[in-house]
Amino acid sequence: MKNTMIEGLSVSAGLSIGSTFVLRNVPFETTGDRINEGQVDTSLSRIAEACAKVSRDLGGYADSEAESLRHMLEGPLFHGGIVDRVGSGQSPEDAVVQTTQDLMVIFGESPDPVYRSRAEDAEEVGRRLFRTLHGLSTPILSAERPVILVTDEMTAFDVTRLRADCVAGIVTERGGATSHFAIVAKQLGIPAVSGVRNVFDVIPDEAQCICDPGHGKVIVEPDESAVAEAQGRIAKAKAAKSSLAHLAGRKTVTADGVPVNLWANITGPNDVQPLIDAGASGVGMFRTEFIFEGDEAPSEERQSYIYGDILKRTPGPVIMRTIEAGGDKIIPYLAGDPEENPNLGWQGLRMCLDMEDLFLQQLRGMLRASTEGDLWIMFPFVSALWELQKCRELVSKAHSQLEAQGVPLGRYKVGIMIEVPSAALMADEYLKDFDFCSIGTNDLTQFTLAADRMNPKVARWYDPFHPAVLRLIAMSAAAAGRAGKPIGMAGDMASNPLSIPFLLGLGLEILSVTAPKVAAVKQTILSVDSRWAKEMARDALKLSSTEAVREFFQAKLEDIL
Ligand code: PEP
Ligand code: MG
Repeated sequence: MKNTMIEGLSVSAGLSIGSTFVLRNVPFETTGDRINEGQVDTSLSRIAEACAKVSRDLGGYADSEAESLRHMLEGPLFHGGIVDRVGSGQSPEDAVVQTTQDLMVIFGESPDPVYRSRAEDAEEVGRRLFRTLHGLSTPILSAERPVILVTDEMTAFDVTRLRADCVAGIVTERGGATSHFAIVAKQLGIPAVSGVRNVFDVIPDEAQCICDPGHGKVIVEPDESAVAEAQGRIAKAKAAKSSLAHLAGRKTVTADGVPVNLWANITGPNDVQPLIDAGASGVGMFRTEFIFEGDEAPSEERQSYIYGDILKRTPGPVIMRTIEAGGDKIIPYLAGDPEENPNLGWQGLRMCLDMEDLFLQQLRGMLRASTEGDLWIMFPFVSALWELQKCRELVSKAHSQLEAQGVPLGRYKVGIMIEVPSAALMADEYLKDFDFCSIGTNDLTQFTLAADRMNPKVARWYDPFHPAVLRLIAMSAAAAGRAGKPIGMAGDMASNPLSIPFLLGLGLEILSVTAPKVAAVKQTILSVDSRWAKEMARDALKLSSTEAVREFFQAKLEDIL
């Protein structure tokens, strides 16, 4: 049927038109299934057929990439390993998973970066082969034919493979605006709609679609007028973006000349260049948990290499947030027992404090890199004073351990995130022993309003413009002002130009945004008079509903832009 409207929730802004690729997931794990001797030959034939199909599909990659993947697919370690395992009675699917995982560990541990990249090749062909054995196809991500990915839930592996030039849009059933995949989609500027019920039933494969997060919808098989309207909006957005491109080289100051640190959030080394190109001058939050994805934690040396590389290439400070896993960001090897209420459970700093070796390893990895740039270490999810004392103690311990080994150390700052209401309420006390703080509105909103940030059903209740959230932000800013310590914001609210006058009015000095939003936020900062913003913030704090706040912010922004 033409022009079918599917309702969803905007989780990453933008608009795109493209052909869908329906991505069904099968857990990439062994099941313990065995085969008997009589089934070995047919199993080997199935594997040969699946390998041939994967090899043919690799034709969609650039030549050099396809060659290196084929080399892995047909080589003795990968192919030979699978054949041997099937010969000894493992099911073809299990043999593929086991061989892939073994090779990822073997290659991943190599100090040689060329060998390490073979771990990624093994994972790529392993997962492709596994899906083929299950009768499922895998998209070839190519810039020539960008696709709109349609899936129930984006897996961590799929998230790591996202590329803005190859993925025109994402439509999912699960995952809210600040879920893991949405964070990456926003960072890359990929439009995404989530909360689509029965996504596999309502959106077919290879269908023309408009992915329209702005209106919270997806249009399947749009008619001509819908396509024309979308094309018009896409052209307008492109023009607006290029009209802001000249701002990249401009210093970020308010209209009356007050400097503001406009930094960006990153998930890994690949995000550094885009933030520089966009005109940000530092990293306001490196979500380090992204480098812990996979089957095991990266070694201390590997971590320090990654941290050092980021510090070296960033023109200003880099705020590295210690792992915030658990809750809505599951890293299987770090996950504890299933919990009734994971968002209120064993996650973030809580988990790190219970896994002291892992935590110390990360702290040492960061400190080892401290000579490479301006390092600021930040602890997420703090909710009680004893945790902060423990964090300080562990930083000192990591420092002394490295000193005892004669490792050269640079200067660094240590700060906290305010993302649990207790931290906002106690900010005066909590800041005493720390150098800076940064507000995480994604979590602060969910905990203040008791609305799960991942659950599209309660999206209506989840809004950082709720007056209660504004008041907690104001309390934190006032406490930082009294302590004379810098305060920033790394939550999504900082990427919304509507919030900027208010945040500047409260005295926030660091705004850490997603790279695609740097230009629009900078444009707003350049137009704000800091004295006007102070008054505006005072008035905003008197409002009592989310709707009134939004209207007020909108009107104020229109006044100055
Ligand atoms: C936040 O909670 O606002 C934040 C910045 O952290 P994350 O989104 O990674 O939880
Ligand atoms: Mg958070």
